[in-house]
Amino acid sequence: MARAWLGMDLGGTNTRLGLVGEGGILARRHLPTRADEGPQAWLERVVPVLQELMTWGRGEGLEITGLGVASAGVLEREEGRILFSPNLPRFDHFPLGQRLAAATGLEVVVENDANCYALGEHLFGAGRGEDLACFTLGTGVGGGLVLGGRLQIGPLGIGGELGHLVVEPGGRLCGCGAQGCLEAYASATALKAMLNEALAGGRWSRLQPGKGVKAMERAAVAGDELAQELMHTAGTMLGRAAAMVAVATGVELVVIGGGLARGWFLLEPAARAELERTLCLVPARRLRLVRSALEDDAPLMGAAALAQRQ
Ligand SMILES: [Zn+2]
Repeated sequence: MARAWLGMDLGGTNTRLGLVGEGGILARRHLPTRADEGPQAWLERVVPVLQELMTWGRGEGLEITGLGVASAGVLEREEGRILFSPNLPRFDHFPLGQRLAAATGLEVVVENDANCYALGEHLFGAGRGEDLACFTLGTGVGGGLVLGGRLQIGPLGIGGELGHLVVEPGGRLCGCGAQGCLEAYASATALKAMLNEALAGGRWSRLQPGKGVKAMERAAVAGDELAQELMHTAGTMLGRAAAMVAVATGVELVVIGGGLARGWFLLEPAARAELERTLCLVPARRLRLVRSALEDDAPLMGAAALAQRQ
């Protein structure tokens, strides 16, 4: 009997679900997370959708053996518990894995969404079968490392947290408490903060304070100098972080995902230039920086693959 696995991407706004076979996504569903209603209400809406996918899959002759959940936030992996997630505040300490296992009768594995993203790209996307590092540039900056076909999390549990590589010692304050992390330069949150600071400091721009990344990207394309500078800064810091990862791990492939990857052409020139400047042990062109191939599907596909491996 052919086998399939359920994958779920639990985000602050949307919950995406899919039934994933050896070749890719067979069926998909999505629903709003409505995080403010709390995890119990969310569970009551999500379980029937999971059951519907299972019924459909079994009707197709598939054996469904596990559920993988990609979740934002800091996780306790043993019990599949979200310890702390800024985008899902009411889910803190909710035993997500346990509850989903009880409701579906499946084995459940819960993993950080950026790690799932990296594994998805490794198995189905931009880096099929290749060792890779992945940066997800969104509200924050996530990361994942796949070496020898396995996610590298390490005994500290923080392996692949590439958003917290310190690219500018003594630099901008990061949400984690350190100064100069990549996340403090190359996330949507950081770009917005840098824009507001520059405008408050008297810089001219066609952008108003509080504008988001999409407006900045449009302004950069239209020739706005401040918007171009901000994109240049984000790209430069990303290139610096990519060089660090290459030296630490030896990967040849870096995959860029998340909302900011849609404007990758604005970041890439500065990222490449910084890579040329800072990666000197091998010809810098050997390190490929590419955009995600799966985009929003990557986390749920990686999560389903983790369920397969359990
Ligand atoms: Zn940090």
